Amino acid sequence: MPVLRWLRAAPLVALLLAMQTTAVAAQSLIRDAEIERSLKRIAAPLFRAAGVNASQIDLLVVNDPSLNAFVVDGTTIFLHEGLIRRLPNVEMLQSVIAHELAHITSGHLVRRALNMQDTRTAIGLGMLLGVVAATATGRSDVGTGVMLGTASVAKRQFMVHTRAEETTADQIGTRYLIRAGITPKAALDVLEIFRGQEALAVGRQDPYNRTHPLSRQRITTLKAVIAAYGSRKTWPDVENAYWFSRMKAKFRGFVGNPAYILRHLDKNATDEFTRLTRAVALHREGKRDAAAQEMDRLIEKRPDDAYYHELKGQILLEGGDAKHAVALYRKAVSLAPREPLILAGLGRAELALGSRKATRQALADLRKARQMDPRDARMLRDLAIAWARNGSSGMASLVTAERYALLTRFKDAQTNAKRAAGLLPRGSAAWLRAQDLLAATKLALRK
Ligand SMILES: [Zn+2]
Repeated sequence: MPVLRWLRAAPLVALLLAMQTTAVAAQSLIRDAEIERSLKRIAAPLFRAAGVNASQIDLLVVNDPSLNAFVVDGTTIFLHEGLIRRLPNVEMLQSVIAHELAHITSGHLVRRALNMQDTRTAIGLGMLLGVVAATATGRSDVGTGVMLGTASVAKRQFMVHTRAEETTADQIGTRYLIRAGITPKAALDVLEIFRGQEALAVGRQDPYNRTHPLSRQRITTLKAVIAAYGSRKTWPDVENAYWFSRMKAKFRGFVGNPAYILRHLDKNATDEFTRLTRAVALHREGKRDAAAQEMDRLIEKRPDDAYYHELKGQILLEGGDAKHAVALYRKAVSLAPREPLILAGLGRAELALGSRKATRQALADLRKARQMDPRDARMLRDLAIAWARNGSSGMASLVTAERYALLTRFKDAQTNAKRAAGLLPRGSAAWLRAQDLLAATKLALRK
């Protein structure tokens, strides 16, 4: 589960925040193929109910233990890790996603995005990151997503909805739930969590209370909807409940002190979820072989599960066994060829192997991973290394510039883009990308 650090010490963001007198914690995304796939699965019936093409909206996890979920544009729903971990059932998570989706389909974002453009800083960010992602994917809308997502994580005021918007999102979100056969009571259960927080000082409330203002009206409206539809048939989805529990088990292993986690796990429990939590915690304790043994039991249980092979590969790679890690990642890629995060893991393992052949293969795999998903800073770092080891310092500088741009470190992005422009063949596609980055960083730094 690689963690991508965002926005640490970014000067533009600091300026923006100084203006708003709001403190911001360094934010990061948790990029994990299994978790993102599970979220997509869990959201799929809601996308269908809303008539939205699932490939157009990503679900990304913010590495934050507090409770929050938010959208900034039409391309991404952000969920705090703490929210997923603390919701007791998958239907409640689906009701949160339905509510966010309703903000998107009701156009509650367009206006906010326009407001944002009043902030000159945001324009700088947007142009820069828009260029980066658009050149990487050929899809300009992805670029917008990166830009608004990045800026918004820094600046939560951009995402605060009005009470009227909240009521609308509740009504439409509940309709999606009902259409998908999910009990609308789950939406009320989520609001009940936050109702208990109203008496707390603002600083002690979860940020969800600020981004989605709670009101008596919201609860009354929801109750009326539930009363009207209460007799409708709903059916629990066993598959989604499984992936939800598995996602929580993985988070439990990754979040917090591993020694504490292990002490509080039932030593005799051999169920799948406990084993998964234990494997991750053992790995984080540096107990590679014990962690790998737990993974073997899980792979026995689900031999065609790409994510279990991937996780064992990660455990071995970080434990210093690149050779076996490569084999596991290869197996994982063969089981899930459309997962850029797994492909990036394979590239990382091949780089660690270090032979000339493996290094060439790493470059090919990392380039492919980047084609599919350019928003992975760790992949960009490995790709730059792969270019350098394969003899192209121009491409290494270009990819490094793009990584810094993604992290909003514009000065570093500019330095590397300049170097790339000097090294790459004049007029080539890569050289043009370096020119775009130079223009964008210049603009961003001037603001
Ligand atoms: Zn809301």
